[in-house]
Amino acid sequence: MPEQVSLGAGAPVLAADVGGTVTKVSVVDETGRVSPPVRVPTPSGSTDTPAAILNTISDTARGLPGSDRVRAVGVALPGIFDEDRGVGVWSENLGWRDVDFGSLVQEHFRLPAACAHDVRAAALAELRLGAAHGLRDVAVLTVGTGIAAALFVDGRPHVRGGYAGEIGHVVIDPAGEPCPCGNRGCLEATASAAAIARRYGEASGTSVAGARDVLERSRSGDRTASIIWSSAIDALASGIAHLSAAMAPQAIVIGGGLSEAGEDLFGPLQEGVDARFRLRPTRLLRARLGEDAGVIGAAVVAREGAPSHREPAGGPHR
Ligand SMILES: [Zn+2]
Repeated sequence: MPEQVSLGAGAPVLAADVGGTVTKVSVVDETGRVSPPVRVPTPSGSTDTPAAILNTISDTARGLPGSDRVRAVGVALPGIFDEDRGVGVWSENLGWRDVDFGSLVQEHFRLPAACAHDVRAAALAELRLGAAHGLRDVAVLTVGTGIAAALFVDGRPHVRGGYAGEIGHVVIDPAGEPCPCGNRGCLEATASAAAIARRYGEASGTSVAGARDVLERSRSGDRTASIIWSSAIDALASGIAHLSAAMAPQAIVIGGGLSEAGEDLFGPLQEGVDARFRLRPTRLLRARLGEDAGVIGAAVVAREGAPSHREPAGGPHR
């Protein structure tokens, strides 16, 4: 993580970002300094995965300086997560449905606790400390193993049961690859970092470690790699153009593993978005907090509560 990351003075808190394969745990002290995250494998396949995950977080935290002084806990979780209710609605990778994480975390740690979607947690970190700082209408799009956006409208998170911003599961190619959501040819199954590597492997018969390898092969003249890379950019550009038209944001911040490609991604992506939506310019920004944005966001959530946007009583829709 960038060395200067500090949340500023406030309560010391414990933060965890639960990923599909790796969980990161940090302690934030009174000055707001975020300790370098400790990475441990995410337990899966157990009869009670949520409990196993919480045990892993507390076991890991015990070894961290300052963990005995924390006064609140924040946890970022994958899948579909509804901050308005504190409920993990669905995780394909970790195999849960409708788990009341808000209560579980609070009971486990016996401390005030807040949980958030991993993408919205990372977005909140970008909003407080990173590329989206100072913006009120912004989408933060994470393109990594999956694709999802976190939306902030007039400075407030737009959650809607955990489903707002799930643009990764819109079909862009009905004949495309199967997606964990049950559909085929979703944006995520076409253009996520994981999908780029997998599609290249299938098309070329050569398996690669990640999207970065596909980009490097494309640069050195591998035609299959170029086709896969360009088709992913086209798909992303299309998704982002629709997002831009729907919310007219001040900027769209792009993070996640694929954003590490830098200008190789942002150059053609900006062109692609501009070509698809000419009515109003779309400003694309690169996320600043890198791969630890999720755990930094979990710390923000521990201090200020989940990025929930409950509709006032009698509100127009839910
Ligand atoms: Zn899908």
